[in-house]
Amino acid sequence: MLDPYEIRKDFPIFTRKVHGKTLIYFDNAATSQRPVQVIEAVDSFYRNQNANIGRSVHELALTATEAYEASRKIVAAFIGARPDELVFTKNATESINLAAYSLLVSGHLRSGDEVLVTRMEHHSNLLPWVRVARVAGARLRIIEVREDGTLDLDDFYRKLSDKTRVLAVTHVSNVTGVINPVKELCEEAHKHGALCLVDGAQSVPHMHVDVGRIKPDFLAFSGHKMLGPMGIGGLYVTRELAEKLEPPFPGGGAISLVGCGVDECSAEWLQAPHKFEAGTPNVAGAVGLSAAVEYLEKLGMEDVEEHERRLTKKALDILQGLGVKVYGPLDPRERTGVVSFNVGKLTPHEVAQLLDSEGIAVRSGHHCALPLIKRLGAPLGTVRASFYIYNTLEELDVFEEALRKILVVAV
Ligand code: PLP
Repeated sequence: MLDPYEIRKDFPIFTRKVHGKTLIYFDNAATSQRPVQVIEAVDSFYRNQNANIGRSVHELALTATEAYEASRKIVAAFIGARPDELVFTKNATESINLAAYSLLVSGHLRSGDEVLVTRMEHHSNLLPWVRVARVAGARLRIIEVREDGTLDLDDFYRKLSDKTRVLAVTHVSNVTGVINPVKELCEEAHKHGALCLVDGAQSVPHMHVDVGRIKPDFLAFSGHKMLGPMGIGGLYVTRELAEKLEPPFPGGGAISLVGCGVDECSAEWLQAPHKFEAGTPNVAGAVGLSAAVEYLEKLGMEDVEEHERRLTKKALDILQGLGVKVYGPLDPRERTGVVSFNVGKLTPHEVAQLLDSEGIAVRSGHHCALPLIKRLGAPLGTVRASFYIYNTLEELDVFEEALRKILVVAV
């Protein structure tokens, strides 16, 4: 079992006050906080190892290259991947764009093909597909969401066909915390010869995600939501697919040979993952992310999940007890610790401001998932509380008290 009080000692931010109150940070779906282990890993890289990687032969450059590749090994193993199957990117958004544009420039999407997405996607797993489908002349199809925020599997089976070339689906909704059956969805997509991209931005930080079990073709995630630095993320691509794909962003560091004739040039790509990482990467970010992964592994992802389930159950009980409108399924086994709600006639921003005045940080608005927000019948969006390893049941008592005060003005 996790001890959040011990964990909090590693997070310097929890010593600060907000509006004179102890900070209660319930905005973890937007970004997590960082422990000293991560802060110090980044600091130490710049103090002791900083050089550009993969090019020079001097000692410092070799050390920096080793640190970067060692980080790749650690982060890849965390999701059950081989190091050469993990491309470092700047975040999940870039990872998804990288996957989508690789498929486009490699001729995987053509006129008449179909791309399947769901109505619960974050804009970052929707708009790249809208764009590449349009450029390729392919049709975008949207799998519907049921009233309770869960995926309409009947609609998935209705829309999946031999025309489907790509299925792009989130593992966990960043609005309702709904967990999608991505293993089954990928399996079904594969039966029709389609590729499957799983958006793991809200799952990889919170549960044991194993690409060997789910078997996606791509898995995207962000480092900053899992204790790592901002500006580093990952895209898992199967070895087999990576070999076939043309990288969409050519440049230095991605090629083994370039030759130019009079008016034309050609290049030979390096092996994956390097062919997808043109230009100078975020080496310190990768080092920090590997420290974050080591921190999570030490806690154990099963315990992380269990701790968040306890918090989620209590949060749902509190909200229901107060008669507050909650979105998404109410069974904590069907969802993660992302809880969306609205309070009486107050707008989500008003509620978030009132909670902020009590030192409680939550997010409010459409959470970059407007199609889902409309489907849930919440035109102004929702208030979203989202939990992580350092949150406590006691903080939820403070949250309940704050909501009681807010309810006095909300009805
Ligand atoms: N996908 C989901 C489900 C998310 O929740 C987010 C961010 O909130 C993203 C993608 C995009 O992540 P980033 O902003 O780190 O690129």
